[in-house]
Amino acid sequence: MVHAIRIHEHGGVDKMVWEPVEVAAPGQGQIRVKHRAVGFNYIDTYFRSGLYKVPSLPAVLGTEGAGDVVAIGPNVVDFKVGDRVAYANPMGSYVEERLMPADRAVRVPDNINYETAAAMMLQGMTVRYLLRQTYKVGPGTVMLLHAAAGGIGLIACQWAKHLGATIIGTVGSEEKGKLAKEHGATHIINYAKENFVERVSEITGGKKCDVVYDGVGKDTFPGSLDCLKPRGLWVSFGNASGPVPPLDIGILNTKGSLFATRPTLFTYTATREDLVESANDLFDMVGRGIVKIQVNHKYALKDAAQCHRDVEGRKTTGSAILIP
Ligand code: NDP
Repeated sequence: MVHAIRIHEHGGVDKMVWEPVEVAAPGQGQIRVKHRAVGFNYIDTYFRSGLYKVPSLPAVLGTEGAGDVVAIGPNVVDFKVGDRVAYANPMGSYVEERLMPADRAVRVPDNINYETAAAMMLQGMTVRYLLRQTYKVGPGTVMLLHAAAGGIGLIACQWAKHLGATIIGTVGSEEKGKLAKEHGATHIINYAKENFVERVSEITGGKKCDVVYDGVGKDTFPGSLDCLKPRGLWVSFGNASGPVPPLDIGILNTKGSLFATRPTLFTYTATREDLVESANDLFDMVGRGIVKIQVNHKYALKDAAQCHRDVEGRKTTGSAILIP
């Protein structure tokens, strides 16, 4: 028996229960991982609340972790007992030990510790595809990044700065603004106090942005579209304030022949090849010190509800992890 944070029904943080669960012997292609650290991600709150439905209940929350391989099933050739591994999928990581498909795990390089690995896999690989694939950010790119001091935010500020972009970051407080700037944001807008659409226009001299990265959702819609140049790209990748309402596609026409995408990491890392390439690129960026993973909040795994409260209450910056 091991302990896990499970939900038996969707709802608030009170639905998160710390309870014993069985872990079977690994089956075909599976490994058993003993977690040394578990990553928190905003998506965990969606699966808890029911904004995203879990496949079945009860369900172990969490999508990310790092730890040691403690057993391997038949036909696992890439891993052995004792390997240090990390992953950002599938769900079921708020637990001391778990089974998972070996082809979703990657080996963690020696220069990256478990806590950093657990904090960076999901947010880091997301930033990679957002900046390198969804839109190819480079020198000359002017981008708007909402929630620039969050987990995705601080990684994206550093990575985009390295790529040479002009980064306009929005934040909910002065303190968060300072932090985002220290991590590479060129300009900061406190959207709790300022009209971000007007400020983007002022900052860019009316030219606006090539791309808007919007993980905030409901509260920044449709303003985000008004921050784009004609033919600019709106990347709506999350719902921290609630989901974007259903929209009339004609809005993309009237606001300047805009492009829109609603991507997810799980498509960009669907094949083993894509996953390994993405993880290796991230390990390289972190290993070379270009991106520093800010693990600003640590909780005992059994106290995961407090982590959810703090992040949903906008009290956190950078990444949060849970320690089994
Ligand atoms: P963050 O650490 O960025 O936390 C969310 C932040 O959103 C808050 O700190 C807050 O910053 C801002 N925010 C704005 N409005 C609200 C609100 N009403 N309630 C709560 N927060 C609000 O989280 P993550 O880095 O984990 O994730 C950021 C976004 O990226 C999320 O929407 C997440 O779902 C998405 N995501 C998408 C992925 C994908 O592949 N599509 C993968 C990973 C994450 P402030 O106070 O500065 O406004």
